[in-house]
Amino acid sequence: MSKKNGFSLVSLVGSNQGDCGYCHQKDTSHTFGIWAHVLTCEDYQTLIDHGWRRSGHYLYKPNLERSCCPQYTIRLNAVEYKQTKSQRKVVNKLNRFLEGDWAPKDTNSMDTTSESDQKKASKNHAKEPSQKHTLEVLLEPSSFTKEKYDLYCKYQTEIHKDEPSELKPESFKRFLVESPLREEPFEDSKPGQGFGSFHQKYILDGKLIAVAVLDILPKCVSSVYFFYDPQYAFLALGKYSALKEISLVQDFQKTVSSELKWYYMGFYIHTCPKMNYKGQFQPSDLLDPKLYTWFPIQECQKRLDKHRFVVFSDPDEHTPGDTPPGWLDVKSLKDSDLKNVHVLSDKGQLAPVTASILWKRSLKFRQNIKEYVAAVGHTMAKRLLIC
Ligand SMILES: [Zn+2]
Repeated sequence: MSKKNGFSLVSLVGSNQGDCGYCHQKDTSHTFGIWAHVLTCEDYQTLIDHGWRRSGHYLYKPNLERSCCPQYTIRLNAVEYKQTKSQRKVVNKLNRFLEGDWAPKDTNSMDTTSESDQKKASKNHAKEPSQKHTLEVLLEPSSFTKEKYDLYCKYQTEIHKDEPSELKPESFKRFLVESPLREEPFEDSKPGQGFGSFHQKYILDGKLIAVAVLDILPKCVSSVYFFYDPQYAFLALGKYSALKEISLVQDFQKTVSSELKWYYMGFYIHTCPKMNYKGQFQPSDLLDPKLYTWFPIQECQKRLDKHRFVVFSDPDEHTPGDTPPGWLDVKSLKDSDLKNVHVLSDKGQLAPVTASILWKRSLKFRQNIKEYVAAVGHTMAKRLLIC
């Protein structure tokens, strides 16, 4: 429990087995989940550095050993980041579009006014004295607006082929607006600046065309999701936003904290071609599933070419056991190991979980608590309060 920034409060969810969202096999994805009511940014930083990730208030840790598509946490050192030629092209193209020097050939992807402007510009090959378009990029604490929701629906139906009837403002809020993270202002910052959950809005000529959902944490900016107007797909906004987020980290590293220098792009799945781009940002590391130390991605990729699941800290090929690497062994946990796990009662009282009535009465409850401790580890089990 962090005294300075309050405490984190969670409820147990437990083991989950479901269909894989990447290779679409049935029941081959294994995760462990907890529900976070409130979470300090410091605690979330520790959790993501132990393989956890959040979706709204739900926090989950994939069991890499058992899952068909192991999800490794990936991070980029934003301060030492070197832009590649193709990444530079994305920026140049967008700048040329803003200046009116370039427009897509497929005019269907543009609205009519800018289309005619673009044609004129490309015909004359003349540089305009002022910009043709203005792109504003604004960071604000995550919030719901109809404009964001409409954009999200357009993106989900056109890009991910979601059924429009399945999209609801409530699910959008649950997934991309609500967050357990406690907002913590930076030292000497303006209102609205700090650690927590944010939306970075991309506004082209006054119109919202993309939103990046970001968590700003003590050591990193973590990318949660990105959605854009498919009409502007020609601007490669997915790639452009990653570069924008890297420069955001570089700014924070100079102005907020020297420790804040990492950019987290979520999980990296070696067998998933859609994720190749994540590995192209250099220098990147993958998180070791056993010791939670970091290894350069090139080293990891060589081993992942040969084996589905690799423990990078172990030079030998992995043989599956009862307990996945990085998890504590449930059977070896004793009551005395759990005396530092605390429960917050309805009346607001704190007590060791082993002193609770449920602990004494329910074998299932004891088992659930042990599985939870096995997944979060001793340090976090001590810091998080259960309710
Ligand atoms: Zn899979």
